[in-house]
This record gives sequence, C-alpha cells and structure tokens, in this order.
Amino acid sequence: MAYQEPAPIPDKENPFESMMKRFDKAAEILQLEQGVYDFLKTPALQVIVSIPIQMDDGKIKVFEGYRVIHSYALGPAKGGIRYAPDVTLDEVKALAAWMTWKCAVMDIPFGGAKGAVKCDPRKLTKVELEKITRRYTANLLDIIGPDKDIPAPDLNTDEQIMAWIMDTYSMHVRRTERAVVTGKPLILGGSPGRREATGRGVMIVTLAAMEKLKLKPKKSTAVVQGFGNVGSVSAKLLAERGLKIIAISDITGGYYNKKGIDIEKAIQYVQKNPERTLEGFDGGEKITNKELLELECDVLIPAAREDQITKNNAPNIKAKLIVEGANGPTTASADPILEEKGILVVPDIVANAGGVTASYFEWVQDRMGYYWTAEMVNERLERIMISAFENVYDTAKKYGVSLRLGAYILAVDKVAKTLKIRGIYG
Ligand code: GLU
Repeated sequence: MAYQEPAPIPDKENPFESMMKRFDKAAEILQLEQGVYDFLKTPALQVIVSIPIQMDDGKIKVFEGYRVIHSYALGPAKGGIRYAPDVTLDEVKALAAWMTWKCAVMDIPFGGAKGAVKCDPRKLTKVELEKITRRYTANLLDIIGPDKDIPAPDLNTDEQIMAWIMDTYSMHVRRTERAVVTGKPLILGGSPGRREATGRGVMIVTLAAMEKLKLKPKKSTAVVQGFGNVGSVSAKLLAERGLKIIAISDITGGYYNKKGIDIEKAIQYVQKNPERTLEGFDGGEKITNKELLELECDVLIPAAREDQITKNNAPNIKAKLIVEGANGPTTASADPILEEKGILVVPDIVANAGGVTASYFEWVQDRMGYYWTAEMVNERLERIMISAFENVYDTAKKYGVSLRLGAYILAVDKVAKTLKIRGIYG
C-alpha cells in the first residue's frame, strides 16, 4: 500500500474548533434553538479501543483505535477510517461531524462517522497491518453494521483493508455481509467507479464553479496539491477537459511547468517508482509546497491534508477558484481572508463528496445484490454533484454568504429539521 506521509502542517488549528466555528455561524443564521444546537454539537457515540497485536518479531504492541459517530439523524452512520501516527480523537470528532454535514448537503441518507488507528503504516508489515485491521474491526462489532455504521477508506487505508474489515465482520456474523463497508475491491462487491469517484466529483464541481466565474476550461490553468487518489484523478480528468495543470505535488514537494504537466506521465511515473512518489519526476521544475499554493493560476485544488491554507498564506493566494479536494484544507481563520480577496471556495463537504456518494451507490448495490455499470455510476454521480453544488450556490446567494457557509446552512438546517420531526426519545 502506498503510504502518504502527512504533508507538513505548519499552522495546525484544532480541527474540531475549526469545524465548530463554521457550524456556529450557520447555527446563528438559522437561529437554531439552544437544545438542538447542543444536540448537533455533541457526537452521538465516541469509542476508544485498544488493539494489541503480536508483531512479526513476536513482541506484543498495543495500538489505539477510535470510532466516532457524530449523528444517526439521517440514517446509518457513514465515514472512512484513517491510519496515521499523529491522529487524535479531536481530529476524528471533527471529521465525523464533517461527514454528517457532507451527507446532508449531498442528500444521501446517512449520518456521519469517522474512525482511525494511531499507527504508522510505513513501519508495519502487511501481516501486522492485517492483524491491526481485524482486531480493530472485532472491537467495533457492536457498532458497525450495514444498518448501523458503514466504514470506508480514508487517509492511508485502501481496498485491501476494506476487504479485511468485510471478512472479519462476515466471520463473526456467520454470513457474507458485503454492505458493512464500502470502497471494497470490485470482486467483493465494490462499485465500478468508486475508486475514481472523489476525483471525478472534484472535476465535476470545478467545471460547474468555473462556469459561474465564466472561466473557460481550455483557457484556464490549475494547480493541484497532493497526488494520491484524489489529486491525481482530479488532475487527470481536468486535463482531459482542457485545463492546463501547471503544478502538482506530493510529500516530495511540488513540480511546476508553465507549459503544463503531462499528468498521464506523472501517474505512470508514480506507479513505476517503488517509493510510489513523484521523487525524481522530470516533467516539471522542483518547487516547495509553499510556492505551489501561492502560484499564479485560475484554479487551486488542495487535495492533500487539512490546514494547508491558513491565515499566514491566504493573503498570498492568487487563484480565482479553490476547490477543496481534501477534508479541511482551509483553516477557519483563512476563510475571511479568501472571501475578502473575492476568491470563490467550493468547500470540502461538497467538493470531495464524490467519494461518499459512490460509497452510497456501493451500499445500495450490495443490498440489492445487483450491480450497475460504470456509466450508470458516473451519470448518477454527476447528477448528484451538480444538484448539490447548485443548491449550495443558491443558498449562499440567498443568504449573501460564502459557499462554505451556504453549504453549512443547508446541511445544518436539514439535520435540525430531521431531529425536530423525529422528536426526542426519552
Ligand atoms: N473518507 C471519505 C470521505 O471523507 C469517504 C467516506 C465514505 O465513503 O464513507 O468522504
């Protein structure tokens, strides 16, 4: 599995506070009553599990795992699992709430969740990784399930890990249960198009937002930060639509070419490189991550990690449009600076929602036991992405706010209305 080193986070803000700042603004505009506000602020469930593993050298090592369910209001909880050495419960709490807003804004019948294991996958063998995954899954048996909480891939987790989760769960419930997890390999009931869906969604909303700004794809340039599943696919699909991708990056730094980077070539380079990075790629001149974000361009797509656009570099950003491929790449304190500069920001909860939308399709197909073609998946994905983007755009216009706040207003309003009508049990 290709390990993605966390991009440097020089100005890390507490992610839960960052999320809450946006939520608070939406709550204020919607004049949410205090009780509903408190309900939505508090995760429904937070678990910390201990994961003892016998390592390959025979020694026992104990890892820590988390699963946070923010809300069940709209349906079973949904959200990825990330493996990272520096992950915290606060980060998982923020990411779980983000999933609630994301599903609500996309009109997908799921609540929000997120899980994590504090570990460094680079330092683990495949056997150790499998043991961690299976023990983590076994610890969560009472929480996850096709009607309760459905995990998926996130940072440093992949189809193989989803397959182990599906198998462990299936062994315990004594039947093959495909719908317990999404982002699985095709052969196990994964959906065609799921792997590319986040990047495809980024491409779809980028083109939709460019239309609003009257930017012509063939005359526009883009910079993409991050060359994992999201960044590389977004770059490839945008290049196919005529945009000139003038810079890309990964953990090894940025690569700039004002004539345009050959994205196909870069993807092949990474695939052939045993390190699975862009190190040594000669299709562009080497630049730093900081320089990359501040390049002169039409579209900037941060698709690496959180807290990349901060109050410190926001004043230097020159893009006309930012499309957030990653979760939380812009800190709350950078929001007003970008707004002031007139930069249109398509927020993460819409921009990168192609992944969870295709996960929803995968879950539906697994439950039906009937599978769609890639064309059907892509066509339905496009319809949902465009409709969510237009709804967010109209809401932002109606309230005279940014797209981010528009998205939060839509999402929080939907979840609050659902809570009210369901009523409080107890
Ligand atoms: N981890 C992805 C996200 O943050 C996908 C979640 C899912 O498919 O459930 O949206």
